[in-house]
Amino acid sequence: MPTNRLPVAVIGAGPVGLAAAAHLLARGEQPTVLEAGNQIGANLADWRHVRLFSPWCLALDPAAVRLLTATGWTPPDPDELPTGGDLLDRYLLPLAALPAIAGRIRVDHRVVGIARQGLDKVRSPGRDQLPFVLRIHTPHGEHDLAVRAVIDASGTWTQPNPLGANGLPALGEHAARDRIVTGLPDILGADRHRFTNRRVLVIGAGHSAATSLLALAELRRQAPATRIVWAVRSATPRPLVGKGSAQADELPARGQLATDLRAVIDGGHLELLTGFGTSQLCPDPKGVTVSSVGAAGSKHTTVDLIVNATGFRPDHAIARELRLALDPALESVAALAPLIDPNVHTCGTVPAHGASELAHPEPGYYTVGIKSYGRAPTFLLATGYEQVRSIAAALTGDQAAADTIPAEQPATRFCQITRELLASSHGRRPLLGHAQAQAILSTQQTPTTSDDWGTVTCCP
Ligand SMILES: Cc1cc2nc3c(=O)[nH]c(=O)nc-3n(C[C@H](O)[C@H](O)[C@H](O)COP(=O)(O)OP(=O)(O)OC[C@H]3O[C@@H](n4cnc5c(N)ncnc54)[C@H](O)[C@@H]3O)c2cc1C
Repeated sequence: MPTNRLPVAVIGAGPVGLAAAAHLLARGEQPTVLEAGNQIGANLADWRHVRLFSPWCLALDPAAVRLLTATGWTPPDPDELPTGGDLLDRYLLPLAALPAIAGRIRVDHRVVGIARQGLDKVRSPGRDQLPFVLRIHTPHGEHDLAVRAVIDASGTWTQPNPLGANGLPALGEHAARDRIVTGLPDILGADRHRFTNRRVLVIGAGHSAATSLLALAELRRQAPATRIVWAVRSATPRPLVGKGSAQADELPARGQLATDLRAVIDGGHLELLTGFGTSQLCPDPKGVTVSSVGAAGSKHTTVDLIVNATGFRPDHAIARELRLALDPALESVAALAPLIDPNVHTCGTVPAHGASELAHPEPGYYTVGIKSYGRAPTFLLATGYEQVRSIAAALTGDQAAADTIPAEQPATRFCQITRELLASSHGRRPLLGHAQAQAILSTQQTPTTSDDWGTVTCCP
């Protein structure tokens, strides 16, 4: 099949991947969305208990909302703050169940490699004219899929940073793995039994650390034998709880987190370890001793459990056969690094950007969503939605639209657009409830022949 008739592949059915699909559909494309998990938004499902800082109006993609409202969907209140579970149940599942999209998504399809058809990374002649080939693992085996472009929205959630302050796992980290919880555990819900009346160390200085610390503080109120220790690398827990940090935040709910955490510290409800660069973990049957050993001396604390809130890093291994332009420090798309460098920026006021900034030396391959930020922690959905709007335009030959990047912050503009779209949809009949959406998605079949969805090169 000629390259220009092949589909565009979207890797990942998270909020940004599905938004990419919506923008491509709106432009007449028939994208193929490959999702590694056994459900839509598999990463979101892990933190469904966490409330977002962004209200609904900043969490919805306009092209997706247009598709949903055209068929009658119960829109959420644009000012409410959804949880991860709300985002999944009330937005992504109904979106993924729309007939135009449902047939384009394949769950349990993990992309493990991307290359140019017939050429390795070193060979140049004719490279740009060749299709991409995705190597895909499914429960039924592996196969290759030829596509004309690739939008990689595979996220960073499954690649937590290790605990070592130098970026390597701390000595003994692997041996202590049973005492380490990564991500955002449901401390007041499903995971409560693991934390109640335990001495828990939270390592990290970002909003995830703050979220876990506040949940632990509430648990301690209910179960007073619970002990909380917070270790940060810097000399103070600024900028998270520094003077004025809460007021400076462009998202009020995120600012509130800082205010609440300050109150927990001032109330003496946690033990704060500053200047703590984790270097060694020594587990024993009773707990784990965590050490910071450096030029400034040694510090140690012994705890039952550690919450690793040190952030995430991208895994670019699937694109190893492609020519990438990545920032050497952040592992973000190179052009974004000066805008998001956490050495310089403390908040996420990143100007809107699109296809040109996100392009790699490998034409037709784009890294988007939270993965495009690499190790920088300030990604916001509204920025990702603007990224895929521009890329969909570029891939369908509308360079003018691709290059028209609005001057306002995505956050400002998105609330306006989404409010208008939601207002116009009021009074329509709901299309699908959660249960119906799940039922449609669970009946999706794994493709077995190339006729199902493009050019699968099946294994024997
Ligand atoms: C707790 C938490 C709270 C947040 N709160 C906010 C907020 O308030 N406002 C805001 O704007 N942003 C927030 N974010 C940041 C960001 O918007 C989310 O992380 C968002 O989920 C990123 O969307 P994404 O589509 O880029 O990636 P993800 O949601 O991580 O989706 C990636 C998808 O790709 C799939 N995948 C991974 N690897 C492969 C592969 N090899 N092949 C196929 N599929 C693959 C995954 O299973 C997953 O479904 C928050 C993040 C977290 C963790």
